[in-house]
Amino acid sequence: MLNQDDLKALYKVTGENGIVSSLGWTNFSENVALPDAVVLQIETEEQVIAVVKALYAINEKKDAKEKILYRPLSGGKNQKYSKSFSLTKCGEADVIFNLVGKEFETIKVIDEENHLVMVGPSIQVGELDKRLYYDHELMLKHLASLIERVQRSGLMANAGHGTGNKSGSYADNVVAYRFLLPNGEIVYLDKRENDPLFDDLAPAHLGNVGIDLGAVVQCKPAKKLKCVIEAMSLPEFLERTAKGEFVNDKKSMVSAMYAPTYQHDLTNRDIKNVVVYHWTPVPINTPNQNYHPGIRLVEQRAEIELSEGLHTTDLLSAFPEIIPAYMEYVVGSFGIGEGVKEIIGPFPDVYHYQVQYPHKLNDFDCLFEISDDCHEMVDAFTQLAIKTQEAADRGEYPITYSAYARVFQGTNGGLSTSSHREGKKVCGFDVVSSPNIPGFEPLRDAMVKYLIETYHAKLHWGKYIPDTIDYAAMYGEQMEKYKRALLAWYDRHHLKIEKNPALNNFFCRILNMPKEMTPAPLAQTVDDTTMSPVSIEEALKIINQLSSLLAGQGQHSKHFCEHLDNIREKYALANAKHSSLYGSSKPTSSNPSLKKDEREDNDIVDFMCQLY
Ligand SMILES: Cc1cc2nc3c(=O)[nH]c(=O)nc-3n(C[C@H](O)[C@H](O)[C@H](O)COP(=O)(O)OP(=O)(O)OC[C@H]3O[C@@H](n4cnc5c(N)ncnc54)[C@H](O)[C@@H]3O)c2cc1C
Repeated sequence: MLNQDDLKALYKVTGENGIVSSLGWTNFSENVALPDAVVLQIETEEQVIAVVKALYAINEKKDAKEKILYRPLSGGKNQKYSKSFSLTKCGEADVIFNLVGKEFETIKVIDEENHLVMVGPSIQVGELDKRLYYDHELMLKHLASLIERVQRSGLMANAGHGTGNKSGSYADNVVAYRFLLPNGEIVYLDKRENDPLFDDLAPAHLGNVGIDLGAVVQCKPAKKLKCVIEAMSLPEFLERTAKGEFVNDKKSMVSAMYAPTYQHDLTNRDIKNVVVYHWTPVPINTPNQNYHPGIRLVEQRAEIELSEGLHTTDLLSAFPEIIPAYMEYVVGSFGIGEGVKEIIGPFPDVYHYQVQYPHKLNDFDCLFEISDDCHEMVDAFTQLAIKTQEAADRGEYPITYSAYARVFQGTNGGLSTSSHREGKKVCGFDVVSSPNIPGFEPLRDAMVKYLIETYHAKLHWGKYIPDTIDYAAMYGEQMEKYKRALLAWYDRHHLKIEKNPALNNFFCRILNMPKEMTPAPLAQTVDDTTMSPVSIEEALKIINQLSSLLAGQGQHSKHFCEHLDNIREKYALANAKHSSLYGSSKPTSSNPSLKKDEREDNDIVDFMCQLY
């Protein structure tokens, strides 16, 4: 906690070292805020060392509970998508370091023969893949997340992962970490020296071990990728998955996306609501084929504009009746597509196919072991389809984006989320919706409970980590090993673990740390109800723009309009009924200051009547 004297001392050291500071922080998804946090733009190692030493001196005189908390977090660079992409309160701190200097993005091949490369903490993972590929003809041994904008350090800290049968988690690439300790000393956690703490700390250090200033990573000669993109119905996807078609080839990498349409998806073969990306490495000299990254960027921008620029998420939350048509025609058109497409191109561009991201998200991500017949993964999709259909039957449409599955080898040790038995693989099952959508939370809770109870699923450290879960039970002996290793690490360096400035309230609770060292919570959850309500006029504008954006999409546009026509008729009938009951006065316009549940049914009637 920063008192007035601490702030003076902090600003003295930032002033002396030319560090730019600002007040207040939010993550990319704007669901977590730290309004009182001091955010420092760190350009050099000397700067971060100076601040760390100053805070260490202050913390030595404080009670453990009162210590000043600090954490490095991604962000602060003057570019799009430079933010912390974690959706949890993991970054809770009084002082935040944005390691923005160029020296934090360096890449240096340190052992050509063995393909070992020293990489700075702040380079974004897509940029790292590109620089390794184009400058050194290398690629990482274990693949990055599909999202290319998270930083190397943040993805490793949280045990993030990509996809690929031969791929461990992203942290599995690390041979040695270079950490800055709270007393300003720089030390290594090095596998090559058989450090006994490596296997318990490195797979998911969670930011608790020190500030990661560099990592030696294992690379291999680069390949190009062939990607087959295929749209299909959910029943077809489940049948083909159960036959092992997507995951049984040793080398294959798969990402499947299912967009629920709430029309009995489990048996409905008429709607293509699943798209499967199936990559295989090919030699680097293979000619490119259908490789047009520029077009993809434009298409995805249009898609994100649908949800962000047009405030589609606000529209869907205000008028959930539109969601099934939106999912079938709009998501179906932009996100799923039709038929089969094949692309060959440079690995980084073909792998990181998603290059634009929506801000407003509600997400949960469960990781669990799967067998060769993938029945666990098939069951997860089946349960989701059953539960979303049950919700639809109640008039709720909880998912406005999609559910994704990625299959990878996984990594054992410490608090890795992808631990697995010999010969098994791991499925990351990630469900993404918009905030404030009726029915999402019950669906999420039911799915999370089911997957934990049935398949011992673990929750992604960067997505959804609720207070209500017993993480000691989830991790068992691994949690104890991590805690013992953390204590041994601090003992080794003659530091007191209770003064560890990274151990915030979020991690103290998860790790069941003693109350005497657990600081007060700092992070605020940004309440979903603060989303701007959509007035009828705004909704009409969004619908019109959606229709014109869809205009080039042939059948999809036609069907979407037909569907809205049906909804309009339904509400016109309701309107007539309303008039006969309450007189012929026209329904009033929406009052934007009212909360959703306070708004009258009239608003929906009025809105639908104005559609045409
Ligand atoms: C749209 C979206 C898509 C996503 N896709 C994927 C995906 O495909 N696969 C996947 O695995 N995850 C995915 N995630 C989750 C995301 O990758 C993780 O939350 C990741 O940890 C975020 O990385 P970041 O660089 O933003 O780190 P941050 O959120 O800034 O930090 C994460 C943690 O790392 C610590 N940390 C950061 N830098 C350092 C450092 N230098 N030293 C010590 N500790 C540090 C922080 O203190 C914090 O505790 C996605 C999230 C979003 C919002």
